[in-house]
Amino acid sequence: MRYKSTRGGVTDVSFKDAVIMGLAHDGGLLLPESIPDVAPLLDSWVDLSYQQLAHEVMSCFVDDIEDEILKEIIERSYSTFKHSDITPVRRVGGVHILELFHGPTLAFKDVALQFLGNVFEHILNERNTRANILGATSGDTGSAAIAGIRGKQNIHIYIMFPQGKTSATQELQMTSVLDENVHNIAIEGNFDDCQSLMKTIFSDLTFKEQYGLAAVNSVNWARILAQIVYYFSAYYQLGRPAEFDVCVPTGNFGNIFAGYVAKKMGLPIRRLILATNENDILARFFNSGIYERGLISFTHSPAMDIQIASNFERYLYYQCDQNTEKLTEFMLAFAETGKAVQLFNSDRFDESILAAAVSNDETIATIRRYHAQHSYLVDPHTAVGLTVAEQFKDTSVPLLSLSTAHPAKFDNVMTLALPDVAVNHPTLDALNGLPTRKTVLPVSIEAVKALIRE
Ligand SMILES: *Cc1c(COP(=O)(O)O)cnc(C)c1O
Repeated sequence: MRYKSTRGGVTDVSFKDAVIMGLAHDGGLLLPESIPDVAPLLDSWVDLSYQQLAHEVMSCFVDDIEDEILKEIIERSYSTFKHSDITPVRRVGGVHILELFHGPTLAFKDVALQFLGNVFEHILNERNTRANILGATSGDTGSAAIAGIRGKQNIHIYIMFPQGKTSATQELQMTSVLDENVHNIAIEGNFDDCQSLMKTIFSDLTFKEQYGLAAVNSVNWARILAQIVYYFSAYYQLGRPAEFDVCVPTGNFGNIFAGYVAKKMGLPIRRLILATNENDILARFFNSGIYERGLISFTHSPAMDIQIASNFERYLYYQCDQNTEKLTEFMLAFAETGKAVQLFNSDRFDESILAAAVSNDETIATIRRYHAQHSYLVDPHTAVGLTVAEQFKDTSVPLLSLSTAHPAKFDNVMTLALPDVAVNHPTLDALNGLPTRKTVLPVSIEAVKALIRE
């Protein structure tokens, strides 16, 4: 399979080059040249383990890694998961919940980043090169990136987070990783400072080249690829329904885009249901056709506090019939004015995606309801999904709702919702008292560069 950019300026790229490139050089996102139809194969995959299924699905998009090596990478990537089904489906009331949080950091990002870390290492070893991964986190997602890269050969990872502005647990999940290739940087500023440091350092092309700077952010195709697999796994766990609906709590549109690809591959998903928190740019788009930036608000589901969804361009590309010029125009208009319209003719509006936004109060109410009615604890992101799932539930097909984190990761919100309930997880409890390491730096490009040079 070859890859191309949504903006038309990059074509004929191999899978391995797409992984290393991350963002396409023309500013667009990489996509496979075609999406294979696997509907005729669904019968033959019925008895496969998660890892075998992952190999079948991924092989459709990867032809430049030897089969045995790809199998071994998949095995290693999911050996760190605590559940034998990797992503088990649980029936809770009238909904099927796909639990994506059984990886090492208890968040769904592990599914993608455990795989990406191993693929990255394999490619670098083969090419005899090194990479330095630089990332910024507000606290929640850095640990999954670190867990994916720790202990890998030829890769160092530098994660910047705002000093004193993450929760104690979030900081511990990162700073208790003592592998010599992991560098936690506490920046004496806020998350915006971390992000702008990252942007500025990446824009220094000489430095980027010299130190093999790379990112593992949510636009990397390998992450989407790994996420497609669990939609297939859920379909088999549901007993192969003729059709099913899937609800996805959404921030950067990465997780739900993987579902969109699975549907295009022939998996019988009837409707994708998109759930946002109060940062509702995507919900507004799907209900009005207008893509317009709003003000960021800080909510109980911080991993979804996003105004510009970095993966959304991939969806728009298909929605405008792969017309790279039209898409580029739309994206540039949006970048300039914060608003873009008229991508669709009204009769072409996408009816297979439903969307709604959820307030903080509704999030808390859903956490309480699932606890009271089903004795099931859901994290605030999962609760956003379940709130919208219930709004659109119709009994004619099974409804799957994606659970993206273990509730113990967000114990502050859980305490607010359920003050009398202890919410913990042995993996997090075990972090208390562990030795930690971090470097505190001022908001200074030179200081961060100096650390990487060392
Ligand atoms: C990242 C994240 C999300 C949002 O996923 P996207 O792929 O950005 O849509 C939802 N929940 C949790 C817990 C996350 O970490």
